[in-house]
Amino acid sequence: MKSFALAALALAAVAPAAAQAQAPSPGEAAFRELFKEMVETDTSAATGDCTALVRKTAARMTAAGFPAGQLHIFIPDGAPKAGNLVAVLPGKDPKAKAVLMLGHIDVVNARREDWVRDPFAFIEQDGEYYGRGVSDMKAQDAIWADNMIRYAAEGYKPPRTIKMALTCGEEGGGVVNGAGWLAKNQRELIDAGIALTEGGGGDLDAQGRKLAVTVMAAEKSGGNFVLETTGPGGHSSKPRQDNIIVSMGQAVANLQRLDFPTELNAFNRAYFTALAPRVDAEAGAAMRKVLTDPQDPAANAILNRSVSWRAMMRTTCIPTLIEGGHAANAQPQRVRTTINCRTLPGSPLEPVEAAIVAAVNDPAVKVIGMNGGPPRPPAPPLTPQMMAPIQAVAAKVFPGVPVTPMQETFGTDSSRLIAVGIPTYGFSALFRGDDAGNIHGLNEHISVQSVMQGREFMYRLIKAYAEQK
Ligand SMILES: [Zn+2]
Repeated sequence: MKSFALAALALAAVAPAAAQAQAPSPGEAAFRELFKEMVETDTSAATGDCTALVRKTAARMTAAGFPAGQLHIFIPDGAPKAGNLVAVLPGKDPKAKAVLMLGHIDVVNARREDWVRDPFAFIEQDGEYYGRGVSDMKAQDAIWADNMIRYAAEGYKPPRTIKMALTCGEEGGGVVNGAGWLAKNQRELIDAGIALTEGGGGDLDAQGRKLAVTVMAAEKSGGNFVLETTGPGGHSSKPRQDNIIVSMGQAVANLQRLDFPTELNAFNRAYFTALAPRVDAEAGAAMRKVLTDPQDPAANAILNRSVSWRAMMRTTCIPTLIEGGHAANAQPQRVRTTINCRTLPGSPLEPVEAAIVAAVNDPAVKVIGMNGGPPRPPAPPLTPQMMAPIQAVAAKVFPGVPVTPMQETFGTDSSRLIAVGIPTYGFSALFRGDDAGNIHGLNEHISVQSVMQGREFMYRLIKAYAEQK
């Protein structure tokens, strides 16, 4: 009894700020149920249904008191499973531009046989949530819907209207992109003076310490190249000297030579400048070195140990799909490899193709296709109106952690809205480690603390924007 009381006193004496930040926010149990339902509703292109999820989320919001007349479900023609949900909470000032929370609810396909746990079961274990989409990006989707429910329940009426769009199809797989569809067909309904979606958030080091709050200031573009080699085939019992699976194997091995130069723009410069004093001494020195000498081999070798830092600094290309042959007892006639490239903002794809051809170094292996998508519009500038509320909320929720712009290693739906004139930023307030919770891969995860702190952060941040003049 005595030691318990002493321990409690000691805790109260040393950690009042931390205790305050970690006190549960109102409605956490209801939020967890909402998040669980989102994860357990399969929204992958192969086996899922976004329309089922938007109906469930709309029903849950209605049951929690959100006015049904302010919820709109849109199902694009010919895509019955690609439903989207838009919610509107009107503000007091009809002339003030709205604040929009945007999130894609579809997820990358998950093969049950490859996962340790069922990908569509919401599992909490050792302080982590597991399940397809917990990190990309159903935690943020659940936070958006939860925000709407909380604001409506409070009778909150700020000057600016608050909107939410939960969309389907960002991850591809042949599904109509809902953000693009809304931008084209419901431009007025989703109009906003500022929109937030996935990207950025916060970086954790290997020990789980917070390094920085990150705001996406630019994102990479991407494209796929298809390599192909063909041959006459024939009976497998009479093999020729050459075999196109072997030659494709060699071509793919040669891709190891592909190494694009380090290129730093204003955003990754700001990011490394902010991180250098907060990471271990070796990484910090390497960050300072590349800021003055971007090609320094030793500094690059140290930073390249992080998959995030490596990808931030240069264009990358990797083989992601391979198919070949047509029968176990036949020599192969056709082999194809898909190479997925991620280019730095503003960099064209054509020089990348030339670099691939040079690395492969086999005229029999040809580039037969390139799919680059439309060029991404430049991101809107990080204005003081955009950054000041993030700085202010971060000082309260994550005291002592710096806020920095960053260049994301992937692309988001922000480009779809930027293209129609809605300033859209990537910011999640969710802290993740170097692997970002292994998004798109196996056993996707995110920490419970990261989600609950992100929820509290976004509840305050969206209010701060909604009250801006
Ligand atoms: Zn995503």
